[in-house]
Amino acid sequence: MDRRLCSDPATLDGVGDQGLVARAKALAAELDAAAVVRRHRKAVSERRVTTRPAPDSMAYLSVLMPVEQAVCLQATLGRDADSLIATGNSGGRTRNQVMVDLLFERGTGQMVASGVPVAVKLVLSDETLLTGGNEPAQLQLQGLGAVPAGIARQLVADSLDAHTETTLQRLYACPQSGALTAMESQSRTFPKGLAKLIDLRDRTCRTPWCDAPIRHHDHIRSHDKSGPTSVRNGSGLCEACNYAKEAPRWTARPMQRPGRRHLLDLGTPTGHHYRSIAPPLPTPARHSAVEAVLLAHLRAS
Ligand SMILES: [Zn+2]
Repeated sequence: MDRRLCSDPATLDGVGDQGLVARAKALAAELDAAAVVRRHRKAVSERRVTTRPAPDSMAYLSVLMPVEQAVCLQATLGRDADSLIATGNSGGRTRNQVMVDLLFERGTGQMVASGVPVAVKLVLSDETLLTGGNEPAQLQLQGLGAVPAGIARQLVADSLDAHTETTLQRLYACPQSGALTAMESQSRTFPKGLAKLIDLRDRTCRTPWCDAPIRHHDHIRSHDKSGPTSVRNGSGLCEACNYAKEAPRWTARPMQRPGRRHLLDLGTPTGHHYRSIAPPLPTPARHSAVEAVLLAHLRAS
């Protein structure tokens, strides 16, 4: 793992603590998938809800649950809080406050969730999904990172069995670098498809070492300076980083790297420059020419 993770220092450029932990976990899941699947089964059987006191007459309510359910719950509460705030029905409450209120109202049966169900997005290579490959999948939520290949296939199978609406969306990545293929668009605000593509590519805020969840889809070169609305000129940022970036004497520009992972250059008012590279996508294992011929023969026989 050390060799794969750290032998080239450039691979860790701008990777925050959470990002580093996520990469180590992904490697562990790849190298000993069986152990990870065993641990996961046991962990699911230990799901529970607990409370413990917090200062100032508050309490923590903790729910230990399978990751896909937690992602779904968090995303649903976030989506509904955003929509209450956007329509001016939040009564001056913050996003966090609205999310807690919604959780309470729904948990005690005063209200039920409605609207379009949220999607739990799982990014995995075709080989992992279809041919029993070992490369871990990625759950698109900050800090959750890698899902071992076996568990990812089980998630898809369970979802199909439960007749949950399950959709498959193809993403194209360069086999050499894992770079996500671009999509171009003309409009000013990031269209939904483009925003989704950036979420999938960046996973967390692109400021080096930040690790916060993506809240804004930013034009790296701003629209005023004729920056296009495109995947190359777009980046996922947290709220704080997006506001910081707009402050005087901060600079940001996307770098031209056809076929390689997305890179942006960030300049601070002190004249320092930092690079931010998008994390790699899962890519199918590559075969040598000889292996390809052998595989073709095996499939034919
Ligand atoms: Zn940030």
